[in-house]
Amino acid sequence: MTKYIFIVGGVMSSVGKGVASASIGKILQSKGYRVANIKCDMYVNIDAGTIRPAEHGEVFVGEDGIEADQDLGNYERFTDQVCTRDNYITTGQVYQEVIKRERNLEYEGEDVEVVPDIPNEIIRRIQLCQKKNNSEITVIELGGTVGEYQVILFLEAARMMKAKCPQDVSFIMVSYLPTPKLLGEQKSKPTQFAIRTLNSAGIMPDFILCRAESPVADSIKNTISTVCSLPKERIISAPDVYSIYDVPVNFERENFGNVILKSMGLRPRKKNMEDWSVFSEKIKNISREVNIGIVGKYFNFKSCRDTYISVIESINHASFFHGRKPNILWLDSEEYEKNPEKLKELNNLDGIIVPGGFGRRGTEGMILAAKYARENKIPYFGLCLGMQIMTIEFARDVLGLGDANSTELNAKTKNPVICTMEDQVEKIKKRQYGATMRLGACPAKIDRNSISFKAYEKEDISERHRHRYEFNNIYRDDLEKNGLRIAAINPEMDLVEIVEVKNHPWMVGVQFHPEFKSRPLKPHPLFKSFVSACLKRR
Ligand code: GLN
Repeated sequence: MTKYIFIVGGVMSSVGKGVASASIGKILQSKGYRVANIKCDMYVNIDAGTIRPAEHGEVFVGEDGIEADQDLGNYERFTDQVCTRDNYITTGQVYQEVIKRERNLEYEGEDVEVVPDIPNEIIRRIQLCQKKNNSEITVIELGGTVGEYQVILFLEAARMMKAKCPQDVSFIMVSYLPTPKLLGEQKSKPTQFAIRTLNSAGIMPDFILCRAESPVADSIKNTISTVCSLPKERIISAPDVYSIYDVPVNFERENFGNVILKSMGLRPRKKNMEDWSVFSEKIKNISREVNIGIVGKYFNFKSCRDTYISVIESINHASFFHGRKPNILWLDSEEYEKNPEKLKELNNLDGIIVPGGFGRRGTEGMILAAKYARENKIPYFGLCLGMQIMTIEFARDVLGLGDANSTELNAKTKNPVICTMEDQVEKIKKRQYGATMRLGACPAKIDRNSISFKAYEKEDISERHRHRYEFNNIYRDDLEKNGLRIAAINPEMDLVEIVEVKNHPWMVGVQFHPEFKSRPLKPHPLFKSFVSACLKRR
């Protein structure tokens, strides 16, 4: 049995389509079905790896090294299943494959057409993901909203699948009901138009998921139900909730899972969302706080939530575990360069995180923040770039190597304590930037005498990477002798993966991205340990 559910957006984007898709995966999984989630992104980029973080949001890295859309992070966090490149389709990948095949004469002299060859390739990829995951239900989220020119070929693929096997394919439109202040009531007209637009692509939605500030009024459900000829039980109310982890619970309250299964001729095999519901309830009752600062640089008019979403969620998971509600502060590292006095604000925090990043801008401010955290014994967690920053700061201040730097930030430094990885030199010279970093899961061995070992409670770990620069082993002895602990290395390549400051309550930098593996019910051990250190300081 293979069923496909397409999730399309109506009215506007950024209303939580990703969380809705992840939650639908979650509730169907909890009813005993094998599910897989796919994200289709409309951009021509092959992957998200080359898109500016403040533009695209976080680049989520898979075990296999795919640099994908942040929604794959939602899927992993909600279903606790690993996503790979099979779960992520972009317009760029589809065209690249079709053109490659054309060059290889695989179309046997036929002319290659946008329709049906492009939709056919989209269908092939969706089915490939289904096969590899052996999923019974595959949930496919289409980025953007109906009516956008670029989504049309994906809708066409979905329509073609439905035409072939009508009983196996359904459509859920995630819409939005605005409540204009002057009127004070929900309006359904934009949703009605979005339904019509979807109809014009040859698609009738099977469900309308109504995102709104508050629960959807019955009269509105009636109207929408009439407009799209659907029974009322298929118009689902999805109001704003306390946390994203409430979304699956709220869907269950609307009986959404069973209604979806029924529409596909299926029955629930079991019911198993108890632990999740308990978790989502528990976090509502937490009142005590923990104050954590993120010293970053990707700030713009959009919220920073998008750029650092996995970091934020990892902080959430670990804080909830300790019975705390995190109060996360956004600290722009460039501000510390302009006004070092401002660093004093770090004193009011229980701990700081310096997350991943690229390029020189703002890094001197991060180095100042690392110095302040080291000297004032404030818990510090460095993620990838944050680990490199921590090493540079230590080399400058403790070793007295005033110009210590990373070759990424100053190519001419006399003390490249962070240097270009050997295999990257050629790639950078040739400007081969797409999917060429050190990517995906790599093993590491932890020193038993470290904070990290206490956190993981084991020696052998595997974490996901995404970087071109690394700790320079030439400086290893000197740094170690002066109080920097090399807490983990990659045994095959002899790369330093974790550093810790010895004479400090909790100052840990990791070359990898632990944030991609934290789950609501299974917080990441390092984040747990970090928050615990923050609480001690408090
Ligand atoms: N820019 C650094 C590097 O490429 C750090 C990367 C990151 O933080 N993901 O090594």
